Amino acid sequence: MYPIVLLLLALVGNALAGAEGPPLRTHYPLDRVAPGVYVVHGPRELPNADNQGFMNNPSFLVTEQGVVVVDPGGTLQAGRMLAGKIRATTDKPVVAVFNTHVHGDHWLGNQAIVEAWPQAVIYAHPKMIEEAKAGAAAEWVDLMLRLTEGASAGTEAVLPTRTVDEGDRITVGGLHFRILHEGPAHTDTDIVILVEEKGLVYLGDNAGNGRILRMQNGSFRGNVAALERALTLGATVFVPGHGPSGGAEVAKGYRDFLKTLYETVQAGYEDGKADFEIRPELLPKLTAWQDWAGFEHELGGLLSAAYLEAEAADFE
Ligand SMILES: [Zn+2]
Repeated sequence: MYPIVLLLLALVGNALAGAEGPPLRTHYPLDRVAPGVYVVHGPRELPNADNQGFMNNPSFLVTEQGVVVVDPGGTLQAGRMLAGKIRATTDKPVVAVFNTHVHGDHWLGNQAIVEAWPQAVIYAHPKMIEEAKAGAAAEWVDLMLRLTEGASAGTEAVLPTRTVDEGDRITVGGLHFRILHEGPAHTDTDIVILVEEKGLVYLGDNAGNGRILRMQNGSFRGNVAALERALTLGATVFVPGHGPSGGAEVAKGYRDFLKTLYETVQAGYEDGKADFEIRPELLPKLTAWQDWAGFEHELGGLLSAAYLEAEAADFE
């Protein structure tokens, strides 16, 4: 009998391993941010069991030739939610997807898009694809599963298939997507996308609005430069990686946060202070952002990163 029990346990285990997490429970509205351009603004949280790993800003544009998606979410389930909203909006198929950077909360939803529209072409920066293949993809699938306590089960990494880099201009259905890459910014894999005809910029995680974001292999000066540049493009609509879309104030707000933090840390470093001595000077300067989601959680890491960058800059 004992071996039979073991066999049964093994079968149940296999069934669970193959099971998919349930569809998203929460209904998220589809916001029209420009004519023919839609964003589902996700919660300003980290992935958790309650939000089932959905917490970014998936977007799509309807063109004459088909639909273009930007950052379809962080799980199979989030991607399917977006696919449902696309089908409810248009009969046209998804023909292209852009992934703004390597963080899986933005792109693991690729799986659901390819599941529904296998011909869709997925674009990202070459370093995004390189880092995803080198381990980031597997790490993110695992991280999502843990943070959502299994809700993202069934999610698999479907990698971008084509590279885009600084200066590229992709045309889909009469719309021109201009790609900007500043080198390291939020990460070293980011692209900013200007949709010329819409006067709209996708900032990716170079900006959060009402949410402070972690930097990874990034650069304060690069991130500030990416936002400064985004502000020179003549755009009127700015879509951040997390938090509400809006006008130029979306890019300006996050630029000012990063600039204030970095310049204060740099001045402290030049005065010979340690990072923990700089923190009390920094807090009064960041009161405009102190109530943003993630402020408490991310500040220590950002301060350390800014300190290391100021130190490295000293030797440039
Ligand atoms: Zn990110």
